[in-house]
Amino acid sequence: MAFAGFPFGPRGQQRLAQDRCGRPLGRPIAFVGSVEEVGRNAFHLPPLHVECAQELVGEATQVVTTAGFEFVRPAKEDLDRRPTFQPNSLL
Ligand SMILES: [Zn+2]
Repeated sequence: MAFAGFPFGPRGQQRLAQDRCGRPLGRPIAFVGSVEEVGRNAFHLPPLHVECAQELVGEATQVVTTAGFEFVRPAKEDLDRRPTFQPNSLL
């Protein structure tokens, strides 16, 4: 899936990935996650700018940077039914 767009929202419309600061995302893309999320390479928080990720990161979380990611919907058998963002070219 293209790094800058992913299906989002109830109608699955394409929307440009934006983080909470509202600026469009470029490369590298940063994700903030727990040790478990980093270990699984599957994040629940949306993609962020590196600067925004560094503002958000805390003692229990880490920042991972990537040039791209996949938006992955949970499979029927998954216990965790939230979609995840999976970096696919870690930097
Ligand atoms: Zn930002």
